[in-house]
Amino acid sequence: MDILRELSAQQRQLGDDSLGFADLRRRVDVEDSGRFRYHLKQLQDTFVQKTDAGYRLTHAGHRVIAAILAGTFTGDQSLGPVELDSECPECHRPAVATYEDGRCLVSCANDHTLFTWSVPPNATASLDLPGLIDLAELLALQAVEQALAGVCPECFDPVSSQIRTAEAARPAFQGDCESCGAQIAGPVDLCLLVDPEVAAFCHRHGHSPQDDHVWESPFVRDDAELVVLDDDPVQIEYTLTLDGESLSGEISENGHITVHRTGSTEGQSDAP
Ligand SMILES: [Zn+2]
Ligand SMILES: [Zn+2]
Repeated sequence: MDILRELSAQQRQLGDDSLGFADLRRRVDVEDSGRFRYHLKQLQDTFVQKTDAGYRLTHAGHRVIAAILAGTFTGDQSLGPVELDSECPECHRPAVATYEDGRCLVSCANDHTLFTWSVPPNATASLDLPGLIDLAELLALQAVEQALAGVCPECFDPVSSQIRTAEAARPAFQGDCESCGAQIAGPVDLCLLVDPEVAAFCHRHGHSPQDDHVWESPFVRDDAELVVLDDDPVQIEYTLTLDGESLSGEISENGHITVHRTGSTEGQSDAP
């Protein structure tokens, strides 16, 4: 761990990312050269690479030490509960945020879960709980965007996404990475939130996915309707109505929005 930490510090301080054997040993402060060589050897090729100029971190080495420095494996910070300037769309009680075990949770007094997402513990050093929730929402939307694009937001390997339907529950988006085990999951509304045409429609009617909380989006309130047309393969029709104008379309089995139609609630649809 100290070897990785020193190589990382070297790169950050000097922009020169290699350290010679003797310098590295001195900085890690191990007297016994044979013992130091043994430990270095354990890291070599996977986390540390030997070059003509000395030793440097590999991509995996960077990722591992970044996670360690961020407190991902060690942080046990917990925050809250704190009432947010928002309410539960279901029961209209105040939205309450907590942060525990690296996870943000927004819920209400009636235990309706409005939002949950992981944020590394180091983010708690500079953000208060409402700020942490904003960050968690940004990370969630970016993760869904990446998963929809077929890329794992954690390890960048290919990831497959799908929409799951179950009776009496809102359809859910799920992306699973077989390489690193990451799971990106949430209500299907997240797929609508990251869609540019849906965002433009909402914007025209005074809603901004950037300013509203995820659980406040027009989809999760009464304004949006989701109809499961088919379970296998999944096909969902959504209709979003704001100020008498509607946007409708289809959500495919992997969460992509395939068609958009606009119209007015008076029935004068401009769809062909
Ligand atoms: Zn509630
Ligand atoms: Zn992955």
